[in-house]
Amino acid sequence: MGTEQPPTTVHRPDLSDRTGVATSAVPDAAAAPGPAAEQQPVTALTDDLLVLGLDVGGTTMKGEVTDAAGTVLASGVVATPQGEAAFETMGALGDQLLAELTDDQRDRVARAAVLLPGIVDPVRSIAVFSSNVGWRDVHIGNRFTDRWGIPVLIEHDVAVAGWAEWRFGAGRGHDDVCVVILGTGISGTLSVGGRLMRSAYGQTGEYGHIPVRHADGLRCPCGNIGCVETVASGAAIARAYAKRTGHATASAADVFAILDTDPDAKAVIAEAISALADGLLGLIHAACPELIILGGGLAGAGPALTEPLHHTIAERLRVVPAPRVVLGEFGARAGLMGAALFARQGALT
Ligand SMILES: [Zn+2]
Repeated sequence: MGTEQPPTTVHRPDLSDRTGVATSAVPDAAAAPGPAAEQQPVTALTDDLLVLGLDVGGTTMKGEVTDAAGTVLASGVVATPQGEAAFETMGALGDQLLAELTDDQRDRVARAAVLLPGIVDPVRSIAVFSSNVGWRDVHIGNRFTDRWGIPVLIEHDVAVAGWAEWRFGAGRGHDDVCVVILGTGISGTLSVGGRLMRSAYGQTGEYGHIPVRHADGLRCPCGNIGCVETVASGAAIARAYAKRTGHATASAADVFAILDTDPDAKAVIAEAISALADGLLGLIHAACPELIILGGGLAGAGPALTEPLHHTIAERLRVVPAPRVVLGEFGARAGLMGAALFARQGALT
């Protein structure tokens, strides 16, 4: 799973559609499709039932059928085609996984969840925008429900991965948790008072686009200057190291690997952690999370990331307590785990 750059013109859904979940809130059903039946409030599945989860990334899409204990009964990975063709491939991957089951298992698959990158409007069942896969305003509606014969939930990949880490992973038992997914981009979730924050605009947790380097910052693809992502994303770390040393092939993981022996690596990582801490400080003052959970590719750096980030944050706080900084428990499986848990629960609660 990864994070994505938003379009320069940020999507602003028509809030008139969100005055209620009921279809009657939509003034013109033909022009603005109402919520699909599968988006109505739903209840958790019983333990005898199975779920189908799909996690669609920019390069590959993965799918699994799992039981209540998390046992994988069918799994598959296929390349993600560019553009709207990706939705036909999602349907085919689901077909393939369902076909691998016994008749008894197939009868017990009760719900599916499809996690999409970019910007997603689950209320109106629209894949709004993905720069990585190259789609815009794809209405999903009942296409998967009709194809697979089960209710299908559509959601944003980062929202679901963050929710899963909070409720069932490193954040379980805590009510106030910030999850930060560090990858090509940076975004995440925030849970306050036991609730996952979801705005009416559908976009929360865009931590990567908090500007932190105003005077000498780099231009971010979003159009702003000095966003957290321009310093602290995997791509930014690799770029900064290459600029400093001339070694253009280093990835962020390579830079972390030589942290103890290479002063240039140490300086680049220190600046990335400083920028990430700056970005999170406002959020910490506003919401006082008990925990910050780090996920995504860069979280593979482990204590080399969590310890200095906690130290840097603690050093800069005066009036609110410093949250603990820990690694997510689901790692690279956060998307698939989240898809299965979301399908099973039926809602991000
Ligand atoms: Zn930005």
